[in-house]
Amino acid sequence: MNSTSPVIIAVDGPSASGKSTVSRRAAKTLGFLYVDSGAMYRGITWKCVKEGIDPRDTQAVTNLLIRIKMELLVKDGAVTYLIDGEDPGQEIRGQAVRESVADIAAQQPVRVYIVSKLRDMATFGSLVMEGRDIGSVVFPDTPFKYYLDADPEERARRRAAELQATEGATDQAAVLSSLRKRDQKDSSRATAPLQIALGAHIINSTGMSIDQVVDVIITDLRAAGVIP
Ligand code: C5P
Repeated sequence: MNSTSPVIIAVDGPSASGKSTVSRRAAKTLGFLYVDSGAMYRGITWKCVKEGIDPRDTQAVTNLLIRIKMELLVKDGAVTYLIDGEDPGQEIRGQAVRESVADIAAQQPVRVYIVSKLRDMATFGSLVMEGRDIGSVVFPDTPFKYYLDADPEERARRRAAELQATEGATDQAAVLSSLRKRDQKDSSRATAPLQIALGAHIINSTGMSIDQVVDVIITDLRAAGVIP
């Protein structure tokens, strides 16, 4: 790494492990761009749902990838995207996308398409990128890899609180079962499964505050001489 190379911080882990909040805050503190790679997989899923494409139909999904234009843009300290000129907004957090995203993300052509876009983002500058395979596949050479985890009940509690705020009443037991199902699909798929990347710093955030987790990252960057 020389002084002109972008610094990449990879933050991986299961659903609702605190990756987004930690990554956003770390990016803001460091002045790096924040990237939510899950939002990219959700964006492709949103487009499939909109066009009535079966998420398990590899040929139809591949043809969609050939047809669409996913443009990257930098907005409010984050790298985001438009699909065919449209910002899907909060629709990518809705139930239809939530239920199909793990099937879309398991499709090999989708992974090749998104990984190439994620790598391109390094041309925009230093990044804090969260996902499932950032340290293992997208940027395996970065020295700054983190695997964030939390107990399943704690993750379900956090996700239920988020859903409560956006969608009203939620059933925590149903949220826990849906998280478990998605984690199971993400961990067992053939291509780029959720796994602890070689050399990743494992953080169980169950009893930790967001600031404590962010501090672990900042301390590592300071020790490596990336920041004063
Ligand atoms: O992080 P988020 O829950 O928004 O991710 C949605 C889904 O996208 C995950 O459940 C997973 O199937 C997929 N994903 C992935 N690889 C990434 C990020 C997300 O497969 N790097």
